[in-house]
Amino acid sequence: MNQKDKLERWTIEDSADLYHIREWGVGYFDISDSGDVVVTPLRNNKDISVNLPEIIAGIQARGYDMPVLLRIEDILDSQITHMHESFRTAIRTFDYKGEFKGVFPIKVNQQKQVIEAITNIGTQYHHGLEAGSKAELIAALSFLKDKEACLVCNGYKDREFIDLGLYACKMGYKCFFVLEMPSELDLILERSSALGIRPLIGVRFKLSTQAGGHWTESAGDRSIFGLSTSQIIEVIEKLKSLEMLDCLQLLHYHLGSQISNIRDIRASVQEACQVYAGLVKEGAAMGYFDLGGGLAVDYDGSHTNYMNSRNYSLEEYCADVIEAIMEILDVDKISHPNIITESGRATVAYYSILLFNIFDTNTFDPEPLPETLAQGTPEIVENIMEVLTSLNLRNIQECYNDALYYRDQARQMFKLGKISLRERSLVEKIFWNIIHAVGDNIKHLKFVPKDLTGIDIALCDTYYANFSVFQSLPDSWAIGHIFPVMPIHRLDEMPTRNAILADITCDCDGKIDRFIDRQGIRRALRLHKPRKDEDYILGVFLVGAYQETLGDLHNLLGDTNVVSIRVNPDGSYTFVREIEGDSVADVLSYVEYSPKRMTRRFRATAEEAVREDLISPQERRMIMTMYEEGLRGYPYFEK
Ligand SMILES: *Cc1c(COP(=O)(O)O)cnc(C)c1O
Repeated sequence: MNQKDKLERWTIEDSADLYHIREWGVGYFDISDSGDVVVTPLRNNKDISVNLPEIIAGIQARGYDMPVLLRIEDILDSQITHMHESFRTAIRTFDYKGEFKGVFPIKVNQQKQVIEAITNIGTQYHHGLEAGSKAELIAALSFLKDKEACLVCNGYKDREFIDLGLYACKMGYKCFFVLEMPSELDLILERSSALGIRPLIGVRFKLSTQAGGHWTESAGDRSIFGLSTSQIIEVIEKLKSLEMLDCLQLLHYHLGSQISNIRDIRASVQEACQVYAGLVKEGAAMGYFDLGGGLAVDYDGSHTNYMNSRNYSLEEYCADVIEAIMEILDVDKISHPNIITESGRATVAYYSILLFNIFDTNTFDPEPLPETLAQGTPEIVENIMEVLTSLNLRNIQECYNDALYYRDQARQMFKLGKISLRERSLVEKIFWNIIHAVGDNIKHLKFVPKDLTGIDIALCDTYYANFSVFQSLPDSWAIGHIFPVMPIHRLDEMPTRNAILADITCDCDGKIDRFIDRQGIRRALRLHKPRKDEDYILGVFLVGAYQETLGDLHNLLGDTNVVSIRVNPDGSYTFVREIEGDSVADVLSYVEYSPKRMTRRFRATAEEAVREDLISPQERRMIMTMYEEGLRGYPYFEK
């Protein structure tokens, strides 16, 4: 092989490097020799893996259109197992005397099958649930069977919520009421005495430790949740006077979500542990130390304290938490509490993938120019053409300035009627040819002038993607969160285009134009040129946490189709669940339309058109069939 061939040969290793799949994929996602994304749900057992394009073929054969949310349920099992095994290892290593009791916060993904899967696989580890509202508690009670698992009730609690929780206690559940506000205690005590059931009480402590990031408003003095130290003392006084300090068993805090720096996690454990020690010294029974959520996901694979990443592993998290607790409690010989974490994001992020096709592209390739300018061409056109022909490495900045100047002048002249539409169009064409030439040339510059950075981004393609950011990736739109995105096939081919993704909503916010990178953010994604007769399919990965029920109905695009699979020991897979996405009629009825009445009205309109001889009765019938099929159809782009 000569040098040139070597340079041009693109391998799956190059793709792995470009998209960082092995870093953020943490063993679940990789690329096959044939260039497809493969999923290995047991992580270290590489023998059992499934190929994403094959799964998609299976989904399409069953009649589901893109976009599809694919859930790989085995990944949930793996994540729960991994979390418990990591804590167990750390507990053994440090000879910690308490146990680890995880709970899953329902708000992170409320879908029934998630709660079902978590309570099933979780039983062997006594993994419990965290409920933040009455509805979540009701859901939790119908799935949680394991009485050794914890059921942590956060959120504001009314009488109905409290009564249900108290009866859960009576039935043998470890159901904790965590006080978010001092006033909740009175109601709990009142209902407890009315029903004759002793409650399990926890307090939520308002940390002063604060971490950086999007989701960390939960801590700090101004946080809307939790009790200050003086409010905690009031709780103790009240319980003491009622001889109920044995009911106070849990300390809870929540630093925020996606805590990317392990130092913040350690600092919060230290602060909260001092409070825990204080509560024990005041005579509270205690026994449970609940650190809330915050365990981050390394979305960009950079393993840094950047907000889309984390600078620690799960093993380090477990070891640091346990070490920090022991450091503080061992001083006063306080017995080690059971540790509860409420990890949501880290438990479910990996198990869902959003898959969609590209249905069109728009490229800004330079348009061909005439060889010579016609006789009588206005001077302005000649001037800007001159800029193009004189452009070289040394005068890039100057040519760029001139191009802008002449283009603006041409626009001005057009407004005053001094040049024609055709002449203005020629100026614009030449202008873009110059910008492209500038873009090509700056690649060879050591120092790119400030004006010219980002020109390559302005020239990148737009790929039109069949999904809605608002429906399926709300955090991407609302807070600029970055998920890994990549093609799921053709990874043995060099991607030759640079593109941003526009979604199907036609809203200027409906796009993805920031992508993961090891250093910061990339403004365009390397993609392949779609082939004529083949779908080009991309996946957005790690979307299992928070994205599903925050989504809205922007442009009346509803829930996507959802397919869940389980991988069998022989490497085959089973479609275990299919949920048809919303139809057009569904989404319309969410905003109070009645599809039946709409059809009736449109039928009348069509009848009028027949009467006016605009369409024939046969055409009316065809139009009505089309209308009704449209109502039944998928709101996304169908082929
Ligand atoms: C949202 C939330 C969680 C989950 O946090 P993650 O970062 O997703 O693990 C846990 N506990 C409480 C109280 C929460 O509000």
